Amino acid sequence: MDTKLTVAVLGTGIMGAAMARNLLRAGLAVKVWNRDRAKSAPLASAGAQVALSPAEAVAGADVVLTMLYDAAAVTEVIRQAAPGVRPGTAWVQSTTVGVHDAPALADLAGEVGLDLVEAPVSGTREPAEAGQLLVIAAAPEAVRERVAPVLDAIGARTVWTGQDPAAGTAARLKLVVNSWVIAASNAAGEVLALAGALGVEPQQFFNLINGGGLDLPFLRAKAALILDDRLEPASFAVDTSLKDAHLILDAAREHGLRLDGAEAATARLERVASRGRSKQDIAAAYYASTQQDLEPQAG
Ligand code: NAP
Repeated sequence: MDTKLTVAVLGTGIMGAAMARNLLRAGLAVKVWNRDRAKSAPLASAGAQVALSPAEAVAGADVVLTMLYDAAAVTEVIRQAAPGVRPGTAWVQSTTVGVHDAPALADLAGEVGLDLVEAPVSGTREPAEAGQLLVIAAAPEAVRERVAPVLDAIGARTVWTGQDPAAGTAARLKLVVNSWVIAASNAAGEVLALAGALGVEPQQFFNLINGGGLDLPFLRAKAALILDDRLEPASFAVDTSLKDAHLILDAAREHGLRLDGAEAATARLERVASRGRSKQDIAAAYYASTQQDLEPQAG
């Protein structure tokens, strides 16, 4: 008898595809579905079963994992999956969603018969490919055990924030982390733009901060993407980071908080998105500072 845990991965974009590959490497049975089949089909050669619909993917699965763009996409896809769901199946929801989306998704889980595990992740394409994500999760003890092989396969460690996925404790921590990601990405772009404008060699700056308190691996990584012009394929795309930036600003406003830096960072991302850079890495926010994207384009 085959006792392998079967995981249905719904959404095989940048993050979902990498997570599916690590589930396969960990010896789990994996079924994948993606709206654009061109992104799920290549996973067949790694051993995944490619499903033609969300309902087909979740049929017979022990765990459903969603890694879609936003809460609206998650709701749409889980409703499509509903006819195939075996009641009591665990649902690892890793899409980054807003604070208010958490109770709505918990209601949806109840309606469809899924046991929800709130499980957004920190880490981008490379940690996802290496199975080294940080999983931020909330779920009752009884469900945690059932999804442990999945969380262990995709992440380096899991940080539990609570028992109740409807409370959105994991979503809150994830938004806090992403406010730092967005701030640091924008700062990386601005520091390089300023260096360029003042005739300071970027390497001079890096030599100065090398190994000190101002040095940051994330700054190094994003600066390399800008300097080497490697903004595609993205690790964390401008359009996806903009979605998160708005979730952060909405949450801040609701709590009477004014985040001037986050507002400015969002405006910078919007500016480069409107100049055809929405599918590039968030590091492309660099171009919000340069004449190349400030000047009206010819034609
Ligand atoms: P991505 O490559 O753009 O993947 C987005 C996925 O959502 C694709 O599979 C896309 O399908 C699907 N999708 C979008 N709208 C849909 C709809 N209405 N119905 C069905 N499917 C839909 O983005 P990603 O970077 O993997 O991000 C996925 C999630 O992880 C996002 O919530 C993001 O915030 C979060 N996240 C990203 C990172 C990162 O660094 N990249 C890190 C942590 C968390 P198609 O292929 O058909 O368009």
